[in-house]
Amino acid sequence: MQESRSLPRCPLSKKCGGCQLQNMSYAHQLAYKQEKVISLLGRFHHVSPIIGMDHPYHYRNKVQAAFGMTRRGEILSGVYQSSTHRIVKVDACQIEDAVADKIIVTIRRLLPEFQMLPYQENSRKGFLRHVLVRRGFTSGQIMVVLVAAHSMFPLKKKFVQALLHHHPEISTVVLNVNPHQTSMVLGEREEVLFGNGYIEDTLCGCRFRISPRSFYQINPLQTEILYRKAIEFAGLTGNENVLDAYCGIGTIGMIAASSAKQVVGVELNGDAVRDARINAKLNNIQNIHFIKADAGEYMVELARESQPIDVVLMDPPRAGSDKPFLESVITLSPKKIVYISCNPETQARDLRFLTQNGYRVKAIQPVDMFPHTAHIECIALLERKA
Ligand code: SAH
Repeated sequence: MQESRSLPRCPLSKKCGGCQLQNMSYAHQLAYKQEKVISLLGRFHHVSPIIGMDHPYHYRNKVQAAFGMTRRGEILSGVYQSSTHRIVKVDACQIEDAVADKIIVTIRRLLPEFQMLPYQENSRKGFLRHVLVRRGFTSGQIMVVLVAAHSMFPLKKKFVQALLHHHPEISTVVLNVNPHQTSMVLGEREEVLFGNGYIEDTLCGCRFRISPRSFYQINPLQTEILYRKAIEFAGLTGNENVLDAYCGIGTIGMIAASSAKQVVGVELNGDAVRDARINAKLNNIQNIHFIKADAGEYMVELARESQPIDVVLMDPPRAGSDKPFLESVITLSPKKIVYISCNPETQARDLRFLTQNGYRVKAIQPVDMFPHTAHIECIALLERKA
């Protein structure tokens, strides 16, 4: 049963701005998202009812907090106030994992003792910029990433000891160094301070290693629903050559591999590709391999070589796909395209191109991956016209 009530209004909702739909009951939020998808994609096909959550709270397995200081020297951790760099202090959040929130508050309290001042954007002084915590909801493994402006951290051993004393449940602690003036959270350099430097989690029966900089869906419960729907749409029989484009750590492709002949995953982020290759071994999947490349450039190459592709699974970032990718899809002419999107606006643009070039939309399924926020996730199935 889907709850129609909301929890008591979050006291931070105005300042934080993260939960844009706070004021609506959950049932209204789902209706709102359904309407939005219909208005953007309804002209392509009937839109199936959005799949919501039974308990749409504390679903985020990844929590990211910015660190800073007030003029009076109070240390803050939380989120940036919408479209500013002012930090709104957050101790607990209704959509974030509660254990992760507690770890971040503990870190905030420990900082002074270990001479870890928050980084100040204006003066460019200080050390700690962000903390990222990821928890495998199935495995229980927890990764803490300290994002610092530099790597001079003399008391790191003692700090990690103190953190583990308060939170023995932590599996690994990583120092990520980001010296740049940028809105990107993570830098390129990493030092493992404790544990393996990654965590594992399970989705749809497969095990996945996740490194700090690899993408991993933030709502694992709904992700299983999303992936199962996507694979159902692909209608695999065991004979297909499948392309998993924008594959991240290889999740969708690996779950699909047992029903396909061969799967190729393509992904731009090197850490994610490394994770994907290890994940294939972890799950003893032999009919999959991964290419580190820009998906568009790789598709152009495949099209030039006239490689046989029967099904394209694609899950691009918010900006959607690009012309080289979509044009090459048309050239390769797969029987089916399963397009997973976290932004129905760019999805609508890309569906328009595909439907003008020989494809027909056969199903549209929104899945609510981000309750209380305005974000919408949606899968579309396209088939080549006879
Ligand atoms: N399908 C995966 C990841 C989806 S997120 C999952 O469900 O977990 C989108 C992914 O696209 C990210 O991993 C990102 O690194 C990757 N990406 C972004 N731009 C890309 C590009 N131009 N070519 C290939 N991959 C890209």
